[in-house]
Amino acid sequence: RSTLSSSSAASDVYKRQLKNKALFKESCFVGGKWIDSDSGEKIKVDNPANNEIIGEVPKCSTSETTKAIEEAQDAFPNWRDKTAKERSIILQKWARLIEQNVDDLARIMTLEQGKPLAEAKGEILMGVTYIDFYAEEGKRVYGDIIPDPMPDRRIVVIKQPVGVVGAITPWNFPSTMITRKCAPALAVGCTVVIKPASQTPYSALALGVLAKEAGFPDGVINIITGSAASIGKELTENPIVKKISFTGSTEVGKVLLQQSATTVKKVSMELGGHAPFVVFDDADLDEAVTGAMQSKFRNSGQTCICANRIFVHEKVYDEFLNKFIAEVNKIKVGNGLEEGIVSGPLIDQPSLMKVMDQVKDAVNQGAKIAVGGDVHSLGGNFFQPTVLSDVTNKAKITYEETFGPVAPLYKFSSDEEVIKMANDTPYGLASYFYSRDIGRIWRVAEALEYGMVGVNTGLTTKAEIPFGGVKESGLGREGSKYGLDDYLNIKYISMAGI
Ligand code: ADP
Repeated sequence: RSTLSSSSAASDVYKRQLKNKALFKESCFVGGKWIDSDSGEKIKVDNPANNEIIGEVPKCSTSETTKAIEEAQDAFPNWRDKTAKERSIILQKWARLIEQNVDDLARIMTLEQGKPLAEAKGEILMGVTYIDFYAEEGKRVYGDIIPDPMPDRRIVVIKQPVGVVGAITPWNFPSTMITRKCAPALAVGCTVVIKPASQTPYSALALGVLAKEAGFPDGVINIITGSAASIGKELTENPIVKKISFTGSTEVGKVLLQQSATTVKKVSMELGGHAPFVVFDDADLDEAVTGAMQSKFRNSGQTCICANRIFVHEKVYDEFLNKFIAEVNKIKVGNGLEEGIVSGPLIDQPSLMKVMDQVKDAVNQGAKIAVGGDVHSLGGNFFQPTVLSDVTNKAKITYEETFGPVAPLYKFSSDEEVIKMANDTPYGLASYFYSRDIGRIWRVAEALEYGMVGVNTGLTTKAEIPFGGVKESGLGREGSKYGLDDYLNIKYISMAGI
């Protein structure tokens, strides 16, 4: 617990640790101005590594959200009417400023999110790649001219920005989830209202500081912190907003989908996942272990594409398990600001309790603990990197998303059996498998009911790929040329009298 008497004193302490102190903002960004909540209420933000209060940000609600939406609406015509190249220049300026400030931005992220500094830095630079990619891709919003069956006519298809976009983002990637949504939206001429997660508002507000410096006109980017339910309701139900892009849980995604139905908005939903990670008997086991480590333990297992079930063929099960255990034992857990730490804390106590509950339940259902299995000796929000072997289908972990550093292993004996097990979930985001047999690779890649398949890789997310899921993992794609479609309307123009 914080020994500091007030959180403004707390934020001064953290501000002093930055080269660019202006990046530590404790107000919301609306119409180019930094504002407080109408009520003056605040939310406290803590450091998950030690539960100290870092500072506090405005607890905004409906009225500030309405204002931000209206500012975005006012800014829209001018922004839309700029050329793609003009928008691209501002986007690139933003990207360069983020790069120049990466050390400070990483420190802010580690403070509020917990991930190791190197991982935070990696995330921020990855966020920059989305801005650079869409600064270019925004210039390639092509239409079509389609031959008309009538001789004096032509069918013209153009694409136009949808208008004001509401972006609601999670705490696990506090920077990239914002740039991944905003870069394509802004590149094609939309304006945005961003609602970052309450656990990680500082990374978002710092991006706002740099956006202002980059020269985005007032109102093009707005950032509102505060009550998720009321901000989310206004963003989804206000008719001015034409599109909602959400990354978060399937549970909240369903609420937002329902609310968006009232005004028939376009929606992109990046929701939960329950990734299968399959190791066939012909796999390169060392590669498979490396992939499993990356896919399972990055961000302490708090990603929607984390391996959530590791299926290993019975012939190679023991060998894989031993190699995997050896690697998991090397993970250094601790405060992400310290040198050499590869795994930080979980985001909060409820997350830790959920992970603990899944482990206990799996053991009750017959699983064995191969490594870890309990809260870490560091206490607080730290959990031991854990491997469970011989997990059964009855265990909760087999069906529920874990969002923690726990790897459950399952044994299988045939391709058909493992494909069935892998697809036995309402989720369909990422999946992975390791094999060297080209026939099997095609068969399995096509049979997996997932939006993304990593073959002999822990799957790397990047700006060039269409990230997204099927089933209850979501709608729409982020990244790649496909990521533009989510922010564009198609218009058909019938040209007659030719
Ligand atoms: P997570 O499990 O990653 O915390 P959530 O879906 O709870 O996922 O949160 C993702 C984002 O959605 C956060 O910004 C959170 O504040 C926001 N959120 C949570 N509940 C609601 C809601 N009822 N309406 C709108 N946004 C919400």
